[in-house]
Amino acid sequence: MNCIFCKIINGEIPSYKLYEDDEILAFLDINPVSPGHTLIIPKEHTLDVTTIDNETLIKIFDKARDIAPLLIDKMGATGFTLTQNNGSVQEVKHFHLHVMPKYNKKIKISIEDVYKKITN
Ligand code: AMP
Ligand code: ZN
Repeated sequence: MNCIFCKIINGEIPSYKLYEDDEILAFLDINPVSPGHTLIIPKEHTLDVTTIDNETLIKIFDKARDIAPLLIDKMGATGFTLTQNNGSVQEVKHFHLHVMPKYNKKIKISIEDVYKKITN
């Protein structure tokens, strides 16, 4: 399947992985809205919120509840927004939950340095 997120799961395309288990994967968004912008996806390809199974959906939101405080702690974010796009507003047709940290002031930092900060 020609799906960019399936390629990330298979290791065909590199990513900045923050968490992985048998069912889900969390990695940094390559074009972040803010430093630490993370995507959480199911490993089994599924389109969107209408097709994902309840168990995996809960696992993904549960992981967002771990990752968001981590971004607050490690990145100095002050809050976070969860977004999940479907249909015409969904660019990548593999379910993903955006975890987008918010900051009081603008921070300029490379994705490599964000990854180091979060994982150290
Ligand atoms: P959406 O509009 O909800 O489908 O958002 C798709 C997101 O995937 C965007 O924020 C992109 O920056 C992100 N994205 C696309 N390709 C990659 C990639 N190879 N690695 C990390 N994030 C990606
Ligand atoms: Zn896929």
